[in-house]
Amino acid sequence: MFNIAIGSVMHESNTFSPITTNLEDFKQDQLLMGKAVFDYHRGKSTEIGGMLEALEKRGVSPKPLISAVAIPSGPVSSETFDFILEKLETDLKKLDNPDGLLLALHGGMSTETIGDTEGFLLRRVRKITGPRTLIGVTLDHHANLSKAMVETADFIIGYKTHPHVDQYDIGVKAAETLLFFLENRRRPTMKLVKLPLLLPGESSPVPRAKLLRLVEKLEKTAGVMSASFFIGFPFADHEDVGASAIAVTDGDAELAKSAAEKLAQLIWDLRAEFTLPVVSLDAALVKAESPGKGPVVLVDMGDCSYAGAAGDVPFFARRFLEKHVKTAVIAAIIDSAAVDHCIQAGTGAQITLCIGGKLDKVNAKPLSLTGTVELISDGKYTGRDFYLVETQVDIGSTVVFAVGGVRIILVTRRMTTYDPALLRSLNIEPMAEKLIVLKGGMLNSVTYKEIAREIIPFNSPGFASWNFAKLSYKNIGRPVWPLAENLKWGINDK
Ligand SMILES: [Zn+2]
Repeated sequence: MFNIAIGSVMHESNTFSPITTNLEDFKQDQLLMGKAVFDYHRGKSTEIGGMLEALEKRGVSPKPLISAVAIPSGPVSSETFDFILEKLETDLKKLDNPDGLLLALHGGMSTETIGDTEGFLLRRVRKITGPRTLIGVTLDHHANLSKAMVETADFIIGYKTHPHVDQYDIGVKAAETLLFFLENRRRPTMKLVKLPLLLPGESSPVPRAKLLRLVEKLEKTAGVMSASFFIGFPFADHEDVGASAIAVTDGDAELAKSAAEKLAQLIWDLRAEFTLPVVSLDAALVKAESPGKGPVVLVDMGDCSYAGAAGDVPFFARRFLEKHVKTAVIAAIIDSAAVDHCIQAGTGAQITLCIGGKLDKVNAKPLSLTGTVELISDGKYTGRDFYLVETQVDIGSTVVFAVGGVRIILVTRRMTTYDPALLRSLNIEPMAEKLIVLKGGMLNSVTYKEIAREIIPFNSPGFASWNFAKLSYKNIGRPVWPLAENLKWGINDK
């Protein structure tokens, strides 16, 4: 049987964020080696979960490589990346002439010194395996594809969904594609088309649906193994940032070229449709005040920790108090000093606190507030939704701080807000609220679908705001739309 190994290195690095991602961040999320990799992923809806199941079903016992994942934030420290890469290289060297490798990568990772980190990593991997090994890579929908990636990997497959819910399926597909080529003793052909396009990280489902229809059509074409489009990760500043399309075929270079070009042209044609509609805060507040069942959920996208922003911009707290909002829940603001202050004061204490603006000093100023420490929690709860089902979540010390009817959840470290079980663990029933702010992205629109009356994506200030003109790009390829508003591009200009 085939000698196949599976590994994963995933991080989405917002290079505008000043928060360096360290080994501790990977340890807190996922830093697994050896047997623990498969023990963790077996049965889970992750890429590795899918790869493992698909291979084992066909009688292949793959070998584990490192699996390192951290919550999005700023660039990965060079020291951390070196550690992960060295571990990956050591494991690879132990493999005896592998037939195939499956790597679940993100495609939006940057270190303190390297922009296209996955391209760098793949080159190092290829150096060890040599040309014979078939390397299949899965990437996030927000990947910034590069020449280095397509030159070193044999095939690349991207997620089809956003919010991302198809990691398992893509893992299965990658494993089956690898087996197809190994069994048939053939090599895939791949074509990448890059577009001079910055698309918002959180974008409208309308153009995506049109693109998916084309993907389906292309994937039904004989000889096309997969077709993927990537909106890219715009909150990074290196020359490979941007949207792209890729097609993998059974050795037919012309077919790969025409499929990738069709997809790329459609992305370009739909470029203006990706941006989400802008709703003003006043309009959102009127909606929250109107009668109806369940809360209006405002998704704080600009300061979304899950897109690498700081997560401590107190924009909504400031504006709600200015506008005398009577009742609201804000989840959450990362501020360990404020949490400590509250814990020292104790439950029920009335104190004046300075919250937020300590990590993101560009988009925020600390906000001074007088209120009550309503609840102190150890931050442990059982996840109920999505990836977190039945997972014991530990977000560290957490406080509910109430200023009148506005309750602000203060946390000590990067975490996710998408599981409603978080609020319930803090004695807040989301169904009973009128207005909830969640720092996060489109994933909240899946998890709060049954609870919210309406979910409004809000382009708030922060390192993940889609006002690209405000970001200080220095290294991205130019010209790029929408910064060059009247940019013309056609498939022959690529
Ligand atoms: Zn993504």
